[in-house]
Amino acid sequence: MRYEKILSWLREDDPVRLKRLWDRADEVRRETVGDAVHLRGLLEISNHCCRMCTYCGLRAGNLTLDRYRMDENEIMACVFQAVAAGYGTVVVQAAEDYGIESRWLAGIVRRIRSETPLAVTLSMGERPGKDLARWRKAGADRYLLRFETSDPALYRRIHPAKPGEALHRKDILPILKQLGYETGSGVMIGVPGQDYGSLARDILLFRHLDLDMVGVGPFIPHPATPMGQDRSPMKPAGKNQVPATEVMTCKVIALTRLVCPEANIPATTALATISAADGIKKGLTRGANVVMPNLTPPTYQRLYAVYPGKACISDNGAHTEADGVHRWISEIGRSVGSGQGGRRHGP
Ligand code: SAH
Repeated sequence: MRYEKILSWLREDDPVRLKRLWDRADEVRRETVGDAVHLRGLLEISNHCCRMCTYCGLRAGNLTLDRYRMDENEIMACVFQAVAAGYGTVVVQAAEDYGIESRWLAGIVRRIRSETPLAVTLSMGERPGKDLARWRKAGADRYLLRFETSDPALYRRIHPAKPGEALHRKDILPILKQLGYETGSGVMIGVPGQDYGSLARDILLFRHLDLDMVGVGPFIPHPATPMGQDRSPMKPAGKNQVPATEVMTCKVIALTRLVCPEANIPATTALATISAADGIKKGLTRGANVVMPNLTPPTYQRLYAVYPGKACISDNGAHTEADGVHRWISEIGRSVGSGQGGRRHGP
């Protein structure tokens, strides 16, 4: 699909024509990755962060947040919950926390790989290449790092570099691929200053990078961040400003399915946060094939507040909302995937 076509879909408002987009994305999803919805257990192991991202509630400058770091026993207890719930993958995520020593995390990866049948996905931010290599060697299968926006000026405004830092997040993705990780990335939708053209270029970059996983979600302002307050460094892009809505998020999910037919695409927590239970079902019927129920203990989950009001997508393997995710999946006539659910490669 060409840039102009993507752009015109992003600007499309007519529900009848949009239905064609949803149907095409759903059809491509069925033909390429099938009807199985893969569940990944999400574990948020630390909210300590060295970064000053202007959008994120975990930024180092947010002094009002209580910080936590899970220990090995806590992590392994949640990992065994993922096994008991029948998930094929655990996603170990944290803010960018150098208190997470690379050797320590390598030990945990090794334990998960040797003591369970789970695939391990890491999402630890922009760690140095030697850490990424060590974790890969320890058995980590996948790595998630959203590039957030492909627009270099917007990127620098929302994601200040650390002193001496040269690489854009999108430049780290080929390194991950070279190390043999299944590589995931994505963007936020509706960040002030993001215009339609830049979002269309983000979608083309998903294809150019041949990503194995693509996660997108609406931007949700956090009151303890510059972008959640009046001192936002970003000006909205006027009539070209992308809105942070459910329908815009679904358009990006659907277009991503069309340009990256084989990718694993989650219906994300941020989408669920702006539209509750319905958001996940809409995502899954408009191109997505993955859900990431949160297995983080509730006391920590509350503190992993990248944005306010984060939905708690629980499942019967976890805690509260008994069998919520399974129910949504059967309501839309799909089945829960078995096995690790890695990237498929077409003929
Ligand atoms: N340290 C990891 C994980 C960060 S949290 C990393 O840097 O990759 C995971 C994702 O949450 C981020 O990549 C970002 O896209 C999203 N996020 C952060 N703040 C957000 C906000 N205010 N609204 C919506 N999504 C947000």
